[in-house]
Formats: sequence, structure tokens, C-alpha cells
Amino acid sequence: MNEFDRISKNFSSSEGKDLKLKALNGFKDILPGEAELWRQVEDRARDIFARFNFAEIRLPILEKTELFARSIGETTDIVEKEMYTFVDKQITMRPEATASLLRAYIEHGLYVQKPVQRLFTIGPMFRHERPQQGRLRQFHQMDVEILGSANPRVDAELMAMGTMLLSELGLCVSLEVNSLGCPACRPAFRENLLSFLESRQDALCDDCKRRSITNPLRVLDCKKPNCRSIVEDAPSILEHLCPECAAHFSEVQDGLRQLGIDYSLNKFMVRGLDYYCRTTFEFTTTDLGSQSAVCAGGRYDGLVEQLGGPKIPGIGCAMGMERLVLLLLQKEQKIEGPAEMDLFIAGLGDAASRIAFSLMQSLRKEGVRVAMDLDNRGLKSQMKQADKAGARYVLMIGDDELAKNTGMLRNMATQEQQGIPLGDIRILIETTTTGRHV
Ligand SMILES: [Zn+2]
Ligand SMILES: [Zn+2]
Repeated sequence: MNEFDRISKNFSSSEGKDLKLKALNGFKDILPGEAELWRQVEDRARDIFARFNFAEIRLPILEKTELFARSIGETTDIVEKEMYTFVDKQITMRPEATASLLRAYIEHGLYVQKPVQRLFTIGPMFRHERPQQGRLRQFHQMDVEILGSANPRVDAELMAMGTMLLSELGLCVSLEVNSLGCPACRPAFRENLLSFLESRQDALCDDCKRRSITNPLRVLDCKKPNCRSIVEDAPSILEHLCPECAAHFSEVQDGLRQLGIDYSLNKFMVRGLDYYCRTTFEFTTTDLGSQSAVCAGGRYDGLVEQLGGPKIPGIGCAMGMERLVLLLLQKEQKIEGPAEMDLFIAGLGDAASRIAFSLMQSLRKEGVRVAMDLDNRGLKSQMKQADKAGARYVLMIGDDELAKNTGMLRNMATQEQQGIPLGDIRILIETTTTGRHV
């Protein structure tokens, strides 16, 4: 089984089948070997967010249920059936990040500090979905929001950032863009769509039959083949945009061209959240087999006000970490292993082991990555452990050496050995500096 299979099957692992205490269905451990890849994705994202002048914000996982009902929308799939809610407490584990981020933005008056706030947050989200490949109940997102500007160039810039991040991660993606109009022009489109769907009700799937009345726009992005073929002829939102929305959308596209970003229009892309208006976009890839979204977002100009804040426009997007990690694995990107050790100290005998124990502490204070066998096993076992830990040097201390306050230093790559005073150890080994976070 290769690394990709191992990790993608991790949430239905057959090992430990008879265990009583296992992770919940749809919840997954990120084990050493995979966690390094997660950090690689995060580090690259943080680097790019910094290039685009974004600041980090960290948010709580639990919020009042009302926050999500009011922002995401009462009739969305998320709020209707996917939230982890403690009914007796009226609180919910966040199913997405935008609502919480806006709640914090309003609560702390962040709009007073800066006219335009560029914020990102990274963390787990929770949705009670049927677990399928790449879809977990606790999943992780990197979420980016720009608050305080309705300028279409901001939309283009955000999509340029998405493009840069995904391409620097080595992924092959395509960008689809749409406009959902505004409260001035969407009602007419909605009416038009309603009457189009009314005459075709019987052919729609059960979900869409219901949606066609409560939330007809959602029918447009139903994935079922039957519904897809019906909406093929549905009226287009892009033909219903008011002059302001049409001008905004054309400037967004102009901005994308200026920044050299490839995109295509997709009039069916409506996104599963009610708060979007005007620009919506989605980065998809076929690298995982069927087409899947790796980053999606849009503008939500009325949302801050709707949540009790001032009238402030905003736009944002979220990227699914699980999919990015799977894609990288599949592309056989180089995975940095767990942090390599600079030095393994093999203390032989109780006295040597005591010296090794305190030597290890003082070397760690100097920034050296050191390990030793605290249980003082035999030399053969300790050399095996040193090898497993990827130690570049092994320092052997036995009774003879101890008497002279020296040790035997072995370079694991060249197999060369030399006796050295214990005080010189720090000078003799060069420590790994790549990929180290001090
Ligand atoms: Zn409009
Ligand atoms: Zn459908």
C-alpha cells in the first residue's frame, strides 16, 4: 500500500478492527508522517497570506446556534441537517469559519482600526455529513476574508492569491467565476427561475423538489444527472444582473485579466450558502479522479449588517486542507519526514546514562535535536533506535570514556568515529537548520 492509499484509507483502517475504543466515524487522526505534509501546506499558505498582507485571527469552535442560522441561512443543507448542535444549550460547533470571523470582527470593532481588514484563520470545522472519501465530519479549512471594500479589484486579487497558492503547491486547477447579483436584481431572476422549475417539478430529484420552492437557486448546482440536464436550459443569472452588478462583474473579470489569471464563467455556480452576492468563484481540480472543489468563495456585502454590524462589504474564500493534502500525496510531492535528530546519545551503564541525561538537556537548550534511550538498553538496540530516529551523529559514552570525560562520536553517514571531550560536542556537530522552526 503506498502512502496515498494508506492515508486516504486511514478513516476506515482495518488495523485495530476489534478495538472497542476507536475514533468516531468521520473523525480522523493525522499521524506522524502525514502531519508533516499538513504543516507544509499550512506553511506555504501562511507565506502567501503574508505576501498578500493578511493577518491571522484565531476563533472559538463553539458559537451560538443563532449565528449560523442567521448567516448561512435557515434553509441551507448545512443549517437544516449538518450542524453539530447542543440543542439544550443553543450552541453549535462551527460548520464553517466566515460567520465566526464576522462575529469577532463586529464584536471587537475591527472596522474602526483599519478601513480594510484582511484576515485569515486555519482550523477544524464540523458537519454531520455522510463520510465518503475525502469528506470527514471534522474537516479543516484555511479561511480568508477581506472586509471593508466593494472594489472589484479586491475580488480579482483574492482569486489571484488562490491561484498562486494552489499553483505553488503544484496543483493543476481551473477557476470558475459567476455573479449572483444583488438584492436589487436577484428577486427578478428568482421569479424567472421559479416559473421555469415549476413546469419541470416532476423530473427533479426529491431534494430539488423541496429546494425549488424554498431555495430555487440551489437547484442550479444539484449534482444529480437528471437535475443537471434540466437546469441546462434554465435562465441565466448573468442575463438578469442590474447595471451596477453587471459593471462590477465586468471589472472583476478585467482585474483577473490584468493579473494574468485564467478563468471561465459558470452560470450554475451558486454555492451552498445564502449570504453570497455578486462574485462567486470556485477552484476545481480533476487530480482526485472526479472533478472536485479545492477552494471556493464569494462576496457577501450584506452579511456584516445582517449580523448586527455596520454596512460593510466583504468577500472571502475557504480551502479544504484534507483535499490539498490528498492531492499533494497523489502527486507524490516530496514529504518531509518527521524532524530528523542531530544526535543520539547512547549511554552505556547507569553512570553514563546519568551524564547523558543532563548532557541532552544542555544541548537541547542550545538548539540541538537530541534523543537518547532512557531505559538504558544494550548498545545494539540503541544503535537501532538512533538509526530509526534519523540521527546524523551518535555519541557513545561507556565507563572508559566516562572516566576521561569523553565520548565516542560516530558520524552515521560516513561511519567515521572519533573520541572527543564531552564539552566539545556542540562544536563538532553541525545542527540541521533547514525546516526548523525556532
Ligand atoms: Zn444587482
Ligand atoms: Zn436535484
